[in-house]
Amino acid sequence: MPEIDTGRWAIIVHGGAKDIPPQLEARHRQGCLMAVEAGVRILTEGGSAIQAAQAAVRVLEDDPVFNAGHGSVKNADGDIECDAAIMDGSDLSVGAVAAVRRIRNPIDAAVALLSDKTVLLVAEGAERFARARGVALCEPKDLQAVPQACDAGCDTVGCVVIDGYGDVAAATSTGGLDGARPGRVGDSPLPGCGLSAENGVGGVSLSGEGEAIIRTGMAHCLMRALEFNTPGDAAKAAFERLARVGAEAGAIVIDAEGRIDWMHNSRDFAVGYARHDMAARAFTRREQDPGETA
Ligand code: ASP
Repeated sequence: MPEIDTGRWAIIVHGGAKDIPPQLEARHRQGCLMAVEAGVRILTEGGSAIQAAQAAVRVLEDDPVFNAGHGSVKNADGDIECDAAIMDGSDLSVGAVAAVRRIRNPIDAAVALLSDKTVLLVAEGAERFARARGVALCEPKDLQAVPQACDAGCDTVGCVVIDGYGDVAAATSTGGLDGARPGRVGDSPLPGCGLSAENGVGGVSLSGEGEAIIRTGMAHCLMRALEFNTPGDAAKAAFERLARVGAEAGAIVIDAEGRIDWMHNSRDFAVGYARHDMAARAFTRREQDPGETA
């Protein structure tokens, strides 16, 4: 058993790559801070990266200002379809659900699937699995976006954590794209696309145009760059690849040393982060952030 050092950890969350109206900026920062604090509570008590990522994403899912869980946008049929995933960097296990309509916190179903051989369950199959595992269900209307809370185009939420054991976790949750084709699934529940985590390397969680992120294998690209580069340079490499197909995205990254960085080419990207040696902070644009050493 590795020695437990709960004094060394790092966590970063995001609330989506998008345009945030000025009157909603404070709510986005506040939502990110609350999510970070939920994760920090777990990490300082010696909890795992998976537990901290789940707790942080649950807070973001429950906040209607973000397009995930409660606050999800409707597809072209006027229905909710949520996707979520979590990846455990210690054994590369992944739990993911897609096109679910009745799961109160889709990240809970993803976590329940982590210990199963199955990686991804969709629609009714995922909901049946969730019910069997005691994950809370709800009515689709309970998840619908509140118009005034979510007039920013809305986006995905995500989290990356490294805990005191050196274990890394990455998570995503989304209501998908507003008005999307029914049954459409984006990058968020797909490992190597919307998220990735690997002990000894780090983790990443993405938001943005799912099709472009899938086509460029953006999370995978970033992780391979992270083996030999700082989080900032690894993100830059992934965005250079994304430029081949031209799309907006945002990325949060932590490496195996606990170094944190984030990048976006969307106008705004709400992010909050904290580390054992750094108080929680939140921003809506990268240029506002003096960097983790400040
Ligand atoms: N990546 C998500 C999707 O394509 C949505 C987003 O992050 O904007 O479903």
